[in-house]
Amino acid sequence: MKLLADLTLSELKELMTLFGERSFRAEQIYRNVHAGKEIAEMSNISSALKDRILKEGYEATGVRIIEHYTSKIDDTVKFLYSLGDGNVIEGVLMRYKYGNTLCVSTQVGCRMNCAFCASGLNGLKRNLSAGEILGEVIAANLFDGGDLKSRKITNIVLMGSGEPFDNYDNVMKFLRLVNSEEGLNISYRNISLSTCGLIDAFDRFLGEDIPITMTFSLHSPRDEVRSRLMPVNRKYGVDRIVDAARRYFEKTKRRVVFEYSLIKGENDTEEDAALLIKKLKGFPCIVNVIVLNYVQERGLQGTSRKDAYRFVSLLEKGGLSATVRRSMGTDIDGACGQLRAKYIAEKKTEE
Ligand code: SAH
Repeated sequence: MKLLADLTLSELKELMTLFGERSFRAEQIYRNVHAGKEIAEMSNISSALKDRILKEGYEATGVRIIEHYTSKIDDTVKFLYSLGDGNVIEGVLMRYKYGNTLCVSTQVGCRMNCAFCASGLNGLKRNLSAGEILGEVIAANLFDGGDLKSRKITNIVLMGSGEPFDNYDNVMKFLRLVNSEEGLNISYRNISLSTCGLIDAFDRFLGEDIPITMTFSLHSPRDEVRSRLMPVNRKYGVDRIVDAARRYFEKTKRRVVFEYSLIKGENDTEEDAALLIKKLKGFPCIVNVIVLNYVQERGLQGTSRKDAYRFVSLLEKGGLSATVRRSMGTDIDGACGQLRAKYIAEKKTEE
């Protein structure tokens, strides 16, 4: 699969030179791709050049929205996208007062196999290319009536299926593409990347000069529990995660976020809150608490809302900033990987 969306503007310029075209064509094509135009729809490009591009085997992004579900509760939209090779991925568009946030997937499936998450149920299928991740943003922006000038997607969270740091190079390229001035130009300040804690990749990321918000999925301050919930903890334990977050703050002065999904009887006790306070004290961060979304195949239960608020007030009393995140789109399989898993299961029963 060759995707125009995988190319930076300078790579596209090289391609145009190879085709014997003037380099300003590259900028026209780049803008067309980032605005969501298919190659055939690029009205400012000659048919001869379009034919040449198509003959070379290129597609714009290859990403298409094949199904969408709008939540009756909060207008959240869940997308199922198809890729050029027939794989499917999902994303969520959440509407807030300050703008629209798109949650993007970075891999088809995931190999981290967290005990509560639907994304890892079928393992990792493959990495997404930079242009495919960008294609999710482009498709959702167009779906919502946006273009390059008036963007409908203002914020991005890399919190869909997949582990961003397990697809490092493509994710870095995606961040640069989506931030590019000639493209959607989404500010790094409006982008959050969530990791399960691949610290070696994170250390590399510290050298990239991409000042996004870093989010670490913590879910427990105890190694024993966290290793059970997240196998990756056997390699990168709690203290290494907290240390990495601290270093990110020291380097960027940006407040780091910890994700904490409350699971009944696993990570929601008073002792858990006390230990969390001890580990995170004196360090400007936010604990984003969410009640676990129930995933049938995983069987773990979320903490009650009442207990979730109790947990958060314990954290606050201990001096931490903590919020209970609204769980959005609960009527449309809002949690990571749920929709794709369902789609695959339905396909299997049809076959
Ligand atoms: N791989 C990355 C990003 C994807 S998951 C990471 O691990 O951070 C985004 C967030 O949703 C993570 O914090 C993840 O632990 C959490 N999550 C996954 N399944 C969930 C579920 N069923 N309920 C609540 N949170 C979940």
